[in-house]
Amino acid sequence: MRIAGQVHIDDIPKICPLVSRAANPQYGEVGTRVVEVAGVRFGGGRPVVIGGPCAVESHAQTVGLAHAVKRAGADMLRGGAYKPRTSPHDFQGSGLEGLCILSIAREETGLPIVTEVMDPRLVGEVAQVADMLQVGSRNMHNYILLAEVGRARKPILLKRGMSASLCEWLGAAEYIAKQGNLDIVLCERGIRGFPSGEYSRYVLDLNVIPAAKMLTFLPIIVDPSHATGVSAMVEPASRAALEMGSHGLLIEVADISFGEPKCDGLQAIDAAALARIVQFAHEKKAVRSQESGVRSKKETQSSSALKATLALPS
Ligand code: PEP
Ligand code: MN
Repeated sequence: MRIAGQVHIDDIPKICPLVSRAANPQYGEVGTRVVEVAGVRFGGGRPVVIGGPCAVESHAQTVGLAHAVKRAGADMLRGGAYKPRTSPHDFQGSGLEGLCILSIAREETGLPIVTEVMDPRLVGEVAQVADMLQVGSRNMHNYILLAEVGRARKPILLKRGMSASLCEWLGAAEYIAKQGNLDIVLCERGIRGFPSGEYSRYVLDLNVIPAAKMLTFLPIIVDPSHATGVSAMVEPASRAALEMGSHGLLIEVADISFGEPKCDGLQAIDAAALARIVQFAHEKKAVRSQESGVRSKKETQSSSALKATLALPS
């Protein structure tokens, strides 16, 4: 039976010619396009760790956390000035003032900033401050926004829609790429499944990491904070994501000496836990470079072995 509107993973080269690995043989079977954000390299061998608050709430909170994130050894600062909230009566972010605070935090710490933009009309404004623009899970299907950020000439962090298939996610990346911007980093942040909400916020889909790597040359990172919704799960989920081949992590951090966070406090970790994750990520890199030394000796074997292990279509 043929059904309207269905796309299959085999269709990716046809529907996503700009981001598909098969349609861009220059990347080979395992090559990654390195996306550079103010000197930080996604897909460049060393996993990138991004830490920071869920929302920019105040100067003291965000700048204080930025220093803590820097001391923990992370590479970039995250923080939402515009927040997508379930209730319109909840804190919606501090907007323009939040953007100013983020730029102060960057000035003081040197950490590049990733922050979310939700409104196509605000892309220019947010891009003036952000080193990387985040498209959130709820907006992955917002094709007007995707085209607008594609024109912004800034690297994009594209979160996976919470109910999006891999094909739909890559289709969203293709919308950005169509505007001439291939500086896209994918971010898995958990998907809806039947147990989501029972013992964790979403279901962290780590299997999508090797699958995405087969289908696209774009780097992929993981957000263990929104995926789990439970601070105690963030550290093991981070290690698991790196083991599965994630090019980096996006993690929410809080310090209650600045007051209880206005959103997502239950999933935030402290700076000490972030430092342990950074250390694990650095050790992982050392192991990986030893492995790649071994692999380069039998390189033809490695990519076909990877395919066979994953049992994915070639
Ligand atoms: C966020 O990272 O701030 C966020 C809102 O995440 P998501 O879009 O994945 O829910
Ligand atoms: Mn959050």
